[in-house]
Amino acid sequence: MKESGEKMQRYSDEIIDEVRQNNDIVDIISQYMHLKRSGRNFFGLCPFHNEKSPSFSVSPDKQIFHCFGCGVGGNVFTFLSKIEGINFIEAVQMLAERSNIQLPTLDNNGDTAKELLKSKVYKVNEYAAEFYHQNLYNPESKIAQEYIKKRKLTNETLKSFKIGFSGKFDELYQNLKKQGFEEKEILESGLVNRNDNGRYIDRYRNRLMFPIYDTRGKVIAFGGRVLDDSKPKYINSPENVVYSKGRNLFRTKCCKKGGHQTNLNS
Ligand SMILES: [Zn+2]
Repeated sequence: MKESGEKMQRYSDEIIDEVRQNNDIVDIISQYMHLKRSGRNFFGLCPFHNEKSPSFSVSPDKQIFHCFGCGVGGNVFTFLSKIEGINFIEAVQMLAERSNIQLPTLDNNGDTAKELLKSKVYKVNEYAAEFYHQNLYNPESKIAQEYIKKRKLTNETLKSFKIGFSGKFDELYQNLKKQGFEEKEILESGLVNRNDNGRYIDRYRNRLMFPIYDTRGKVIAFGGRVLDDSKPKYINSPENVVYSKGRNLFRTKCCKKGGHQTNLNS
């Protein structure tokens, strides 16, 4: 290891190899799609083009994937970059985090401001999930509690999915401000909108709230369902620095309890 103050422009080949060796390509790809073993390889429906019969193959021996339909291919970092819409460095970081490998600090790669905003938006989401969840148990949230009783959602389900209930007018906004979050971060999360008069209003009001998690268990977005007849019945978070609808298509299950799947959206 070099002197800690000295920063690198890129990760060394050694550390990239270490990350790769600790993240089996079959494990990683299986988190996004169904793979079936056939001989030495695994096959599935390609997530990068539309197809009815599987031409997407993964080789555990070579630790690579290849699609005979559209021609995409590469290693575990290539797959993650493509499916998550992130760059190579971000893919390395994501997999390093997953396998508890400490990466050296990179010299400014130009994305620092964006990275900072991203980490703040994750924090806004995390706080909001907790806020909505706590609000569900508030005596004023009777309508939500009755709905939950009717749908027979157990307390365990509520807690493991961190289901919640959004507040009134600007309750979340006020609480986020109290936590020290800045307008820019709050607006980027998509959880609060600013109207033409410059007032901040919560995007989700009086809705049953479902956090959407990524594979690392971070809250990246929310779905909100009305409990009366008002429209629209559902609204989802808009796309932002941490959330892209296309790439999170495969993430409906609760990642903290692998495989635990409940259809709450009907
Ligand atoms: Zn393909």
